[in-house]
Amino acid sequence: MLPLKNIRFEKLIDLFKGNEVIVVSCPKCGALVAPDEEVCPNCNYRLEEETLERILPLLKRPEREPISAMPFPIRMAKTIVAPSSALHDVARAPDAIGPFMIYILNVLILTLFYAAVWNHIYPFGDYWILRVLGDGAIIGRLASNMLLVFIQFLFLGFAYWLPFRLVGKKSGFKKNLSIVGYAYIPVLIGRAVSLLLLFTNSPTILIPASASSLQVQILIALVFMSPVWNNVASIEIACWLWAAFLIALGIRQLNQLKTAVALISSYAIMLVFLAVYASLI
Ligand SMILES: [Zn+2]
Repeated sequence: MLPLKNIRFEKLIDLFKGNEVIVVSCPKCGALVAPDEEVCPNCNYRLEEETLERILPLLKRPEREPISAMPFPIRMAKTIVAPSSALHDVARAPDAIGPFMIYILNVLILTLFYAAVWNHIYPFGDYWILRVLGDGAIIGRLASNMLLVFIQFLFLGFAYWLPFRLVGKKSGFKKNLSIVGYAYIPVLIGRAVSLLLLFTNSPTILIPASASSLQVQILIALVFMSPVWNNVASIEIACWLWAAFLIALGIRQLNQLKTAVALISSYAIMLVFLAVYASLI
């Protein structure tokens, strides 16, 4: 057998033996590889589409390596319309500004959740002070959401970095963070829909001046426990499952994985994350 690795040729050469191709050269690095090889053993270039990529074109890798990285607004838009090329690009050249913008927007929308619900509560009599306290509490919500979303983001980045590091992949933590950051876009979209739901479907309550303080607490608790929150939770889970799909596309490029391996590991990690997340709230 020929030593297939590290042989470079100036141009594409196919060697024929009769009609049968015995080796082909990698279009990227020129190394000679066996024709049934899916990945170039020399440079990891994808030579063949995998079955999954043929079934689901959304999973198809970009045809050619882009010359320069996309600017972050393009990445944000493409994360939705052309996720494979967007996440491939993020994995190659991660940026911090895109994830940072997405983080800020997530924090703002989560804070508006509270405002949307609070907007449906009308205290009367001496309870007018609740209005002032409730409005003031939004600042506190903003601060706690900033912290919570940041911790969640770091935790998720870590959860996607550690397992691959343990099996010897050299994926950088920052690259994983950038991928996870862009994967927050569907979560952001879902939360925007939830915000609209909360504004329109939260129950409206009047707190009468004659209410006892226990009644006030119960009334307020009812608003924050209304059935609309079940829809909010369902949307949130669906968006995280969408995010896991995007992360799979990113870690596939980052860790040089097969598509099926990337998808299975991404969903496995996401399910663990969701289980932890659900147990905390
Ligand atoms: Zn190659």
